[in-house]
Amino acid sequence: MNDDYSSFATQSIRVSRPRTYEGEHNEPIFTTSSFVFKSAADAAARFAGEQPGNIYARFTNPTVQAFEQRLAVLEGGESCIATASGMAAILAMGLGLLKAGDRILASRSLFGSTTLLFDKYFAKFGVMTDYVPLADLNAWAAAIRPETRLLFIETPSNPLTEMMAIAPLADLAHAHGCLLAVDNCFCTPALQKPLALGADLVIHSATKYLDGHGRCLGGAVVGNKKYVGEELYGVIRTAGPSMSPFNAWVFLSGLETLELRMMAHSAAALQLAQWLEQQPAVLAVHYPGLPSHPQHHLIGDNQQQRTGGGIVTFEVAGGKDAAWRVIDATHMLSITANLGDTKTTITHPATTTHGRLTPEARAAAGISDGLIRVAVGLENVADIQADLARGLGV
Ligand SMILES: *Cc1c(COP(=O)(O)O)cnc(C)c1O
Repeated sequence: MNDDYSSFATQSIRVSRPRTYEGEHNEPIFTTSSFVFKSAADAAARFAGEQPGNIYARFTNPTVQAFEQRLAVLEGGESCIATASGMAAILAMGLGLLKAGDRILASRSLFGSTTLLFDKYFAKFGVMTDYVPLADLNAWAAAIRPETRLLFIETPSNPLTEMMAIAPLADLAHAHGCLLAVDNCFCTPALQKPLALGADLVIHSATKYLDGHGRCLGGAVVGNKKYVGEELYGVIRTAGPSMSPFNAWVFLSGLETLELRMMAHSAAALQLAQWLEQQPAVLAVHYPGLPSHPQHHLIGDNQQQRTGGGIVTFEVAGGKDAAWRVIDATHMLSITANLGDTKTTITHPATTTHGRLTPEARAAAGISDGLIRVAVGLENVADIQADLARGLGV
């Protein structure tokens, strides 16, 4: 594994290229479900773990391994396991590291399916979850119980882009013998490296910015060899939420432009957020790159998060009807819940991504009916503004 390049851009292009013996320049896709052995003795040695090598694609596949090694280097982690989706990554984390009686302590502001996975499915197996406000360190400290084993956050959160300082939360977790997992989907390692700040596990939905073009589902967990390379790898190998080699190949090429894209998404999002702040019909704009954001001090070159990222959320006066009017007045923006795409997407969280929550839970998470989330793509910003201006009555 040629992981000794120091720059992110070079690592994202050059680390770990799977090769056949044909001299191909682009990474090959190994579309094979199993691998052959030279002899019966060879097969036995490989199954016994005495000889390295591939056995079956649910366990390992060279294209998938190349993606895992490249992402591990970019996140600064020892090990990475790739999964069929972001949710499969969170499922594998729970299956691998938690047991009945353990508790999760999580931010109240989480991706909707993550909350549902914890409350409905992990709970069936005796793993319960407590929730606290993301940015309140005292609340985290007060809510840790003797059974708490894992702290779980997204920063920035979806959809309100609330942020939390990772380093003090990691210290708190470790002081209580807990692990800290950070869902790094909104930032990617191009903007934020949670492991360097003390987190134990990084979760990815590769579906979003790692692909970057809205083509494939995938996920990953990055961390140390013991937890990720051994425990979680065992879950993937046995339970089978493995990544397809075709998807891994798409993500490998996605990683090659990750830094360029994240900087471009961020620059466009900042411009859009500044423009939205000036619109009379807009009550509030949530974007980490704006000085008005409560955790803006965490943004900057030597800070936790390099730039503000690509997600801008804003609230219009007039509740759901007004929000739907803005969304329906667009011609170019894609009305879809996905994010991390070259195409700008627009979503009404209260009736889509967070529609399964009760109205009380939605209110507690601060998701009002007038809230609109825009995942800023790579089109010309003036065109994105013009598309939103119509519904805002500009
Ligand atoms: C999309 C998303 C997930 C889930 O990923 P999938 O690939 O859709 O399973 C998890 N966390 C966050 C923050 C997300 O945006």
